[in-house]
Amino acid sequence: MGRPSVFLRLSGCNLQCVWCDTPYTWNWEGAGFTHADGGAFRKADEQLVLPVAEVMRLLEGFDCRSLVLTGGEPLAQQRRLAGLLHELSEDWTIDVETNGTIQPSSELRDRVSTWVVSPKLGNSGLEESKAVVPSAIESLIATGRAFFKFVVRSGENIGRDVGEISAFVDKFGLRGDQVFLMPEARTPGELEARESEVAASALAKGWRYSDRLHIRIYGGGRGV
Ligand code: SF4
Repeated sequence: MGRPSVFLRLSGCNLQCVWCDTPYTWNWEGAGFTHADGGAFRKADEQLVLPVAEVMRLLEGFDCRSLVLTGGEPLAQQRRLAGLLHELSEDWTIDVETNGTIQPSSELRDRVSTWVVSPKLGNSGLEESKAVVPSAIESLIATGRAFFKFVVRSGENIGRDVGEISAFVDKFGLRGDQVFLMPEARTPGELEARESEVAASALAKGWRYSDRLHIRIYGGGRGV
């Protein structure tokens, strides 16, 4: 957190979380999905289709050499991503944010520095059988470079969220320092209202707390 980085946000997702903070990456008109915000987005307004060479040109224009692949679900496009990562020089640090339902290919496993895995709880509106794919989770753990970030609610719902996370941690044998709780929040006001309670829960369980620095600094803005 705080390291200057380029975020490459890939469109499309194999899940549809009701509170998703990037529904413009997948909730397109005509798709028939449900999202708490209601309206769908025009795909033509939201999606750029770029060849790898053009993405490379854009990346080389930045001063920093830290790339975060996010989405949507970036691993849904991992075959093309492998081509991009093959082209990037070794001085680039590459992190991937994933929902943890897709096994990474060997090309990505060899090149990615950190896997930020964000499994979805019942608060996402998804069935556990869809949100948790054990073979994919185990494959990510086996890299030795995976951290797990759970989006949790506050108030009366936090106990249920923490209970689900505890069961997940036990099931996959995660260490406490691999587990982060992050408040569900899309505005600075929501973050401030929820941070203390979520941080206290993380401390009580021997896990870590993750802030939403981009919301604190930039509000809910896009492209920053
Ligand atoms: S997995 Fe992530 S990108 Fe996909 S719908 Fe859920 S929150 Fe949004």
